[in-house]
Order: sequence, then structure tokens, then C-alpha cells
Amino acid sequence: MSRHTQNVSFECERCAHKIEKLSNGSFRNHCPACLWSKHVDILPGDRANPCKGLMEPIGLHWHPKKGWQIIHKCSICGHIGRNIAASNSIQPDNADILIALSQSVWTD
Ligand SMILES: [Zn+2]
Ligand SMILES: [Zn+2]
Repeated sequence: MSRHTQNVSFECERCAHKIEKLSNGSFRNHCPACLWSKHVDILPGDRANPCKGLMEPIGLHWHPKKGWQIIHKCSICGHIGRNIAASNSIQPDNADILIALSQSVWTD
């Protein structure tokens, strides 16, 4: 499976922040400035979901292996998704919003 073609820079539809591709080989699926995401995946990274709704960051979840994940809720269909927080990239996630989200930590 290649993540190459998906890892391109794009503009946030929520705040118009220019989002650069990640340098560590993983693909970014949320905006580092406002942390909103977009409902484009059925399986992570497949971009096969026709919903395309904007997804609001509503909480954080600690995954023992993957680290902090941002909980996103789709504003159109209500789907709940989890995305790994990008803290070690050239555009780290907005720490103020992450701290605010940490008030709402989800557990399994
Ligand atoms: Zn944004
Ligand atoms: Zn959706």
C-alpha cells in the first residue's frame, strides 16, 4: 500500500490554513491550526468516503501504542473518528487546542 499520492499539501476548509505534508512518511489528516479534519476515509487513509463532511475535534484519547489521538466528530453524518496527533512534525498541532481537548479525554 502506498501513502505517497495522498501525502500532499492542502488548504484547511475550516480556517484556510495551508497544511504542508508531513516529512516522517505518515499522512496528515487534520489541520494543525484548528485541528478540524474531513470525513474522507472509510478505512484509514483510503479516501473512499463520499461524506466529505468537516469533522470537529471533540476530545482526546490515549492509545497505549499509538499515543495521543484526537477524537473527531463529523458535522454531517455524526461519525466519530480517531486521528493520531501530529506533535513531531514541521507543523505541530495547535497546543492550546490540544490542551482544551484534554479536558475531554475519552476512554475505551
Ligand atoms: Zn484549520
Ligand atoms: Zn461524515
